[in-house]
Amino acid sequence: EKKELESLKGQESKTLDGRHVELAGNIGTPNDVQGLINNDAEGVGLYRTEFLYMNRSEFPTEEEQYESYKAVLESMNPKPIVIRTLDIGGDKELSYLEMDKEMNPFLGYRAIRLCLDRQDIFKTQLRALLRASVHGNLRIMFPMISSLEELLSAKEILESVKSDLDKEGIDYSKNIEVGMMIEVPSAALISDILAKHVDFFSIGTNDLIQYTTAVDRMNEKIHNLYNQFNPAVLRLIKMVIDNGHKEGKWVGMCGEAAGDKRMIPILLGMGLDEFSMSPISILPARKLITSLKYEDMKPVAEKVVSMGTAKEIEEYMQNNFA
Ligand code: PEP
Ligand code: MG
Repeated sequence: EKKELESLKGQESKTLDGRHVELAGNIGTPNDVQGLINNDAEGVGLYRTEFLYMNRSEFPTEEEQYESYKAVLESMNPKPIVIRTLDIGGDKELSYLEMDKEMNPFLGYRAIRLCLDRQDIFKTQLRALLRASVHGNLRIMFPMISSLEELLSAKEILESVKSDLDKEGIDYSKNIEVGMMIEVPSAALISDILAKHVDFFSIGTNDLIQYTTAVDRMNEKIHNLYNQFNPAVLRLIKMVIDNGHKEGKWVGMCGEAAGDKRMIPILLGMGLDEFSMSPISILPARKLITSLKYEDMKPVAEKVVSMGTAKEIEEYMQNNFA
């Protein structure tokens, strides 16, 4: 088994009938890169930058951030690296950032909402990202976008930081892809419009499940209601992939569902282009994908979105693919 996975290193992630997908990894710090290299990741699909800001007493400087981003970009160059801008708030707090107590932190002041309000914090990060971009293949991704206005504002700020750097004569890459996470149903529902303004989408199922089904992802008591096979969630995922593709944009997934072997056949059949997961899931995912036919997974994807319950879908996938 282990030997078989070993033999998949250096192989393409391609179905039996020739559809190629990208198998990338999720990381939290530059130290995590070695695990990705060991497991032959084809890139980074999600670098959660909030860990740079956590467990310390003040904001990381532009220079500190630059060094971290540069380290990741260089160590996997020329593979693509999706770096997500600060996703703080919700369950993640900073000791040095005063935040009001909120009734519903997951519905509150977090991620891009905080960054659009505190542009000083956001611009420092964007400057560090742009400066680091010359060291590899950077893709910038905004978290928790729930409207077109937010996406356009975030892009506007990015452009203003670029023009600051131009004025200062500081170099940055001219072909950085800019994308957004789809983790809020309101974004999924207008993904046809949002797709015109991004280079890619990455679906964040961890939050998309919680917001679609109104089930707190941290609440053990209702954990049985939190299910990635929920048909409403699957329909949203399909809608996002279709809408992205209609505009010629690639669509990935960086939530936990992307690495689940019962989920992968569905996502493959829906046409997902990139799967980003924890390092240890990469080679098993490649093994599965190289054993499947894309054309055979299309009807599987169609079948499951016509089913009424998560249980039925989960059992169907368990019986046929696990
Ligand atoms: C997600 O919501 O699926 C996601 C990848 O983001 P996080 O888990 O960091 O909220
Ligand atoms: Mg999320």
